[in-house]
Amino acid sequence: MRELQNIKEGIHKLKRTVLVVDDELINRELLGMILQQKYDVVYAENGKNALDIVKTTPGKISLILLDLLMPELNGYEVLKTLQSDANLKKIPVIVLTSEKDAEVESLQLGAADFISKPYNMPEVIMARVQHSIELAEDSDIILATETDHLTRLYNKDFFFQYCAKSDLYTPGRDMDAIAVNISRFHLVNELCGRGFGDQVLCTVADEIKYFASQSEGLAGRSGDDLFFVYLPHRESHEKFLEGIDGAVAEIAGAARINLRMGVYQNVDHSVGLEERFDRAVIACNSLRKSASEHYALYDSKLHEKELFSEKLINEMDSALAQRQFKVVYQPKFNIKGKTPRLCSAEALVRWNHPELGMVSPGLFIPLFEESGLISRLDNYIWREVARQIKQWKDELGVTVPVSVNVSRVDLLSPDYEKNMIGLVRDNSLQPEDMLLEITESAYTENSERIIGIANSLRARGFKLEMDDFGSGYSSLNMLASLPIDALKLDMKFVRRICENAKDLRMIQLMIDIAAFLNVPVIAEGVETEEQYRLLKENGCDIIQGYYFSKPLPVEQFTEMIEKEGKKRC
Ligand code: C2E
Ligand code: CA
Ligand code: CA
Repeated sequence: MRELQNIKEGIHKLKRTVLVVDDELINRELLGMILQQKYDVVYAENGKNALDIVKTTPGKISLILLDLLMPELNGYEVLKTLQSDANLKKIPVIVLTSEKDAEVESLQLGAADFISKPYNMPEVIMARVQHSIELAEDSDIILATETDHLTRLYNKDFFFQYCAKSDLYTPGRDMDAIAVNISRFHLVNELCGRGFGDQVLCTVADEIKYFASQSEGLAGRSGDDLFFVYLPHRESHEKFLEGIDGAVAEIAGAARINLRMGVYQNVDHSVGLEERFDRAVIACNSLRKSASEHYALYDSKLHEKELFSEKLINEMDSALAQRQFKVVYQPKFNIKGKTPRLCSAEALVRWNHPELGMVSPGLFIPLFEESGLISRLDNYIWREVARQIKQWKDELGVTVPVSVNVSRVDLLSPDYEKNMIGLVRDNSLQPEDMLLEITESAYTENSERIIGIANSLRARGFKLEMDDFGSGYSSLNMLASLPIDALKLDMKFVRRICENAKDLRMIQLMIDIAAFLNVPVIAEGVETEEQYRLLKENGCDIIQGYYFSKPLPVEQFTEMIEKEGKKRC
């Protein structure tokens, strides 16, 4: 409320412009004399001129005083035209008339008020003009604070407030919470430009707004490309999703834009409003990995999964304190020479949970990334790894470089570089002893910032490996300018390399790209002799996978270093 008051005080100091539209000169002059003490006054002698003025001076006219009977275009026609234009309809219009019937009709056509002719009460005219301007401006300010600037949908806070109000007015009505999201929206922006991205957002918003108003529902924008809709319960809202898809397809051209919809049906009245939308978002996010499914209901399976996720998140700190996380090392072999040679390892985390046993990182890493907790775990892993590399140096007299996984969240944390430098220094290591694996999608999702950070790390002597190469969306153009020291092929290509000629071709292409960038190629997930042979024949440099070794506990990997170390030249 205070914010509203400040804005109001600010704009009340400005002088407004009033447009007087009347075909009779004497009327224009009379009104002009009354108004000019407080307002700038502009004049039009018919409806056509009036519309020309408002259209060519957007935002300038604060109010129109409109005569009804005029040549060229009469006042009723002017009112209709103003009403049909989303921007012009915001200008309040006071109708000038001497007939009672005309008053009713013009109010129905959207007039804010009327003033009777003749104009013998200047104070009444001034008061009515001022009142109508204030009302219109207040509702403009309210609209600006309650809605999102781009789409004009309610922002998250006000959306929830209006949903709560609607529940209050219609208690007991079954309502569904719906989340609508655009798949990989950052790519739409990146590949087609922000202007087009905004157009897509507005199209989705318009369709949602229309549908919500038709169904006695409410629509809001929760943030970026996430929309909320509160609708009376239905068995399925898939038709609604199809409607939005259709509207988007009309403007999409060649761009592929997919929408996802998650629904929390009103099955449990005790669940709070925000939580119901959280669950709709969970249902929506459950579609992330699927290319073919676009609609999901929040069900008991998702609920169980959510509880499990919460358990893992809540227990991370105590698990760190109790050293339940262990590092395993998966060897990497250089296959350039006659016999494969151990050249480094990848550090992978394992959670040895007291009740659940071994929990796969595939389960908890994405959760920790989403909740921002990953940096705490990764810092712990890196400390363990740095200490271990130093121990091998001291006890075995060999340096075994180890690559660690660095998530996007880690890179964006302001202390990341400082921490890594400290870690290397405290353990008397060289920066290149700890290789940094950064997944390709991290580069493409926040490219400018990540590239800046990556450049800075390289300048400090760290070596960066692009993980899961081929799974993201780097363009060739982008790759050429990326700061990387090795390409690590996405495992899915390696897996099918023997059966699928296309995947072999993809790998050959990626190896060519690496040659062009002058960096070595690492293939992971190599399980069979045939895969190994094909990769070697095609010029792959380094191999990691079950064919050579599974990830090993530190004791076993140490034995391997001792054995392999002896073979080194
Ligand atoms: P990634 O970085 O792509 O790691 C490779 C994954 O492939 C590892 O799974 C590894 O055990 C598995 N793998 C290696 N060779 C083979 C093979 O021949 N066949 C098959 N089927 N799999 C193989 P893991 O350990 O389950 O890790 C999964 C993902 O979790 C990793 O994928 C990485 O993205 C993430 N991760 C693991 N440890 C950490 C960590 O300490 N920090 C962070 N931020 N992420 C980690
Ligand atoms: Ca990795
Ligand atoms: Ca990988």
